Amino acid sequence: MDVRNCKDCGKLFNYIGGVPLCPTCVKKLDDKFVQVKEYIYDHPKAGVQEVSEENDVTPGQIRKWIREERLAFAEDSPIGLACESCGALIKTGRFCKQCKDKIANNLGNLYKDKVQEPQKRKDFHDRAKMRFLDN
Ligand SMILES: [Zn+2]
Ligand SMILES: [Zn+2]
Repeated sequence: MDVRNCKDCGKLFNYIGGVPLCPTCVKKLDDKFVQVKEYIYDHPKAGVQEVSEENDVTPGQIRKWIREERLAFAEDSPIGLACESCGALIKTGRFCKQCKDKIANNLGNLYKDKVQEPQKRKDFHDRAKMRFLDN
């Protein structure tokens, strides 16, 4: 059993992985999240500072939710994050659409290389067989 101190209130609790928060504080954070989400829905033009002050959440927590794609913002909202790859302003997640596509393409190419591998080995095998027949 892994017993830890809650990062928020300091109470001991059975740690089961993820963020080191006790069940009470996890619940509190979830309630906060719902509150923030509703606030943004009602105030689509609110900035991070305003959302943070009005809901008693740190701007860091708000940014974390955005990175986790749990919060998303309207196109005309002043809230935005920099794409981790090119720095373009994005509304949610870690990368802009272009960088996401690029990453997806790279992954696709890696996958294709792996698929071609057995094929190459087969050609080699055939060539070896032919050489044997030539003799
Ligand atoms: Zn706690
Ligand atoms: Zn980008």
